[in-house]
Formats: sequence, C-alpha cells, structure tokens
Amino acid sequence: DTGTTPEGTACASHTDVALLHTAFAALRTASKLDRTPQYAIRMDRLRRLLALTSQNQDRILAAISADFGHRSAHEMQLAEIFTTLSAIRHNMRHLRGWMKARRVATPLHMRPGRSRLLRQPLGVVGIIAPWNYPFHLAMAPAAAALAAGNAVLIKPSELTPRLSQLMKELVEQTFAPHEMAVATGGAEVGAAFSALPFDHLFFTGSTQVGRAVAQAAAANLTPVTLELGGKSPAIVAADCDLDVAAPRLAFGKLFNAGQTCVAPDYALVPRQRIQAFVQAMQRATRAMYPGVMDNADYTAIVSQRHRERLARLLDNARQQGAVVVPLAAPENTAGPHLKQAPVLVLNVNDSMQIMREEIFGPLLPVVPYDTLDDALEYVNRGDHPLALYWFGKSVAERERVLKESIAGGVTINDALWHVAQENLPFGGVGASGMGSYHGEHGFRTFSKEKPVFVQARWNAFGIFRPPYGRLFERAIG
Ligand code: NAD
Repeated sequence: DTGTTPEGTACASHTDVALLHTAFAALRTASKLDRTPQYAIRMDRLRRLLALTSQNQDRILAAISADFGHRSAHEMQLAEIFTTLSAIRHNMRHLRGWMKARRVATPLHMRPGRSRLLRQPLGVVGIIAPWNYPFHLAMAPAAAALAAGNAVLIKPSELTPRLSQLMKELVEQTFAPHEMAVATGGAEVGAAFSALPFDHLFFTGSTQVGRAVAQAAAANLTPVTLELGGKSPAIVAADCDLDVAAPRLAFGKLFNAGQTCVAPDYALVPRQRIQAFVQAMQRATRAMYPGVMDNADYTAIVSQRHRERLARLLDNARQQGAVVVPLAAPENTAGPHLKQAPVLVLNVNDSMQIMREEIFGPLLPVVPYDTLDDALEYVNRGDHPLALYWFGKSVAERERVLKESIAGGVTINDALWHVAQENLPFGGVGASGMGSYHGEHGFRTFSKEKPVFVQARWNAFGIFRPPYGRLFERAIG
C-alpha cells in the first residue's frame, strides 16, 4: 500500500527507491562475477520463468482482472499467458544456436588470421513496463534478457498494483536476488530507476515518458530500447470487402477495449464508402459483443482517470461538430465496471483532441479520403506510427502503401497479428520508438556482438610496421 496521505506516499516511495538501489547493487555485483553465464545456467533461468508463468496462471489473471475492474479471461489467456509462454519456449528452443560465436569472412590480405563475432551479455538490464499488458510486457523482454545472459531488474506499472506485487513475490520465490528482481512503485521510482547506470534500459510506455527515460539514460550513456505508442492508422481501400475487413478491424480495435499499443487508432475510409463502413462495423461489433456492459468478453477501462480522459476526448470532438455513432446495441444497464462502449466518431478534423492524441480506448474516428495520394499524405503528415493496417485487394495499391509509408510494423488485411510472431522484430520508428525485440531480435538487443580478430603466427603484417618501405606502398597503393 503506498498510503493515502501525502506523507504516507512520500514515505512509501522513499522505501521503494531504497529497495530499488539494494536490488540493483545485488544484480551489478553478480554480473561482474560471471560476465558470460553458460548455456545450462541460462536454460535453468528460462525454465524457472516458464514454470513461474504456467504454474501461477490463475493468480496472475485474477490479479490483472482485479486491477482492471474486469478483464476478458480469454484475452488474458491469449495476450498475457500464451504469448509469454511462447516467447520463453522460443528462447529455449533457439538458445544454443543464438549463443554460438559467428564466423565472419576475413579479407584476403588479413589471412590466415580469422575473424568472428562473440555474443556476450550486456550486464544488468532494466525493464520498465506499462499497465496495458502488464505481465507479458514485463516478462517477454525479461525472457530475452535472461536468455542473453543478463541480470534483470523490472519496474512494473503502478496502475496494476496487485499484479505488480504478485510479480514481485513470484520473482523473489523463483530467482536469486542476483538473477532477477522486481522494483515496484510509481513515476518517482520510475525516474530513480531510469537514472541507474544500467547496461541497457528497455522501456515500454508512452512517447512522453519515453523521452524522459531516454534523457535520464543519456546521462549514463546507457543504450535504450523504446517501445512507445502513437496513432496507428487503418487504411480501408476502395476495393475492400467490408464484410471481411470489419470484423477484423473491430477485433483489433476492441481487443482489451482498445488499450493496445498497436490498436488501429483511426480508420481512413473512401468518402463514398463511409455509410457502408459504419454499417459493416456495427454488424461486426454486435456479432462479437451482443452487449458490452455485462459482457465478460469486453474489458473495462483500467482506471477512472483513463475513463474520464476518453469521455473528454468525445466531448471535445462533439463540441467541434463530430458525430458519435454507437457500435454496440443500445443497453439500459450501466454495468458494475468502468467500461466504455465502443463508438465510431465521424466528421472529425485535425484540431480535435481525438485526432491529436493516441486514443488508447474503444473510440474509432473515421477520416474520409478521396484518393490514395490523399490517404498516404494524411498518414505521412503525422509522426511515424507504431503499426499500420491496410485492408483491400489490389496488390499494386498494397505495395504502394508499403513503399510510401513508414511504420513500426504492418499487418495487411487484419489487425495486430504481426506482433504475435517471434520471427518478426517488434518495435517502433521515430516517435513510436527505437530498437526492437521478439525472438532472435530480442536476444541481439540484449547482447553485445563482440568482433574478434585472431592473428596467425605467420602473417604478412610486418610490412605495416616501420621502417615503411616499398612493400607497404604496393600493398595499399
Ligand atoms: P506510461 O508511459 O505512463 O508508463 C509506463 C511506465 O513508465 C510505468 O511503469 C510508469 O510507472 C513508468 N514511469 C512513469 N513516469 C516515469 C518517469 N518519469 N521515468 C521513468 N519511468 C516512468 O505508459 P502507460 O500509460 O503505462 O502505457 C500506455 C502507453 O504505452 C501507450 O502510449 C501505449 O501505446 C504504450 N505502449 C507501447 C507498447 C509497445 O510495445 N510499443 C506496448 C504497450 C503500451
């Protein structure tokens, strides 16, 4: 409990910051004692992380659901447990191969010397996690960092306090203090955390906080991976089959009630197809969610503050002439949780807040366009998005969209799924982030690839030492 009085809060975060420093010191000492943990040690850590996840599924899901008020059990199974277990197993399956030194070709004039790349752990890795997938976004990067042989310190979000506390307990039971630890606390602990001299900082969260984390890390020259957010567009093509696209787009938007970093933020729809789009989206939503307020499949908004933020986005849009169209069937029940009914927002313009900020909820603005040039111009005017979606048939148009836009990742004719693959790197570009992880990309993010040149006993390098002579000139001439 962080206390309710200002003094209580200050006191609790004081303790949190002290615990953070103790945890960091233990990890730092151990990382110096064993710079490159061997395969068996890393496998053992991954096995324990796997067991921690699979044996405590029910407790993990109950804690997250309590933190959200209500969260879809099936969505948690998929996005917290299944994805985390898959990531850990993928690391275990490929660890031996990833750890191997790579032979690199040596140029003729440097032979018979040999060159190779050694993959070594960086040391102590810090992971700052957000609240929207609070278990997966802490443990999937942790798995990659452990596989790469690092010691790991995790800072979960204060918006999911039950899950954060549970993760702390489970990690303490499963790992020695020099292997992995969890430091709980809010923004103050986050700030103290990012000021620590980590060997790598991995941050998932908002662009605004990401900027502060990068600045703090710069003071220590700590390299950062920033997994941020932004406004990810979904472009509906003129030839798009709306009956196919609408359920997929609605799924991507309404999964976790829109509280997904790669959720389609807004839809670009051909002007003459707006009406058909609205109807197809309503049909699709009603088929998936016959009701929302009492529906166990529909997740609540994480906090009162975020629920109010969404209401403000809608008010601000309405005041400036937007039309809000419900997607689900009308309901009389208010429901016990902080749920936000899904809506489309029509007649939007760029001065509305809803078109300037990441929405992070089940509100989908619809932006009409006339030509593909217009749609691309609209997308490219803003920051580079974390994800981009395109729904349509024409291969030529699809290729144009891929070539003429920049985004962290893309799914064609569906939403979200490019993220759920270990072989595709996941990460943003520009304001949506830097660096990437998943699969081997994660292993490399948390490794130093050390180039090594092994000189041969007999070689021709003597000509490169003084006294310089004719052979030197001939060699480089
Ligand atoms: P947030 O930026 O508010 O918080 C993220 C974490 O940073 C929390 O643990 C928080 O305590 C900590 N923090 C807060 N202030 C800090 C500071 N000054 N220094 C260091 N740490 C600090 O983000 P959020 O609200 O938890 O998550 C939502 C955002 O995260 C959205 O923008 C979403 O798009 C983004 N997101 C991105 C990804 C991705 O993989 N790219 C995934 C999920 C969420």
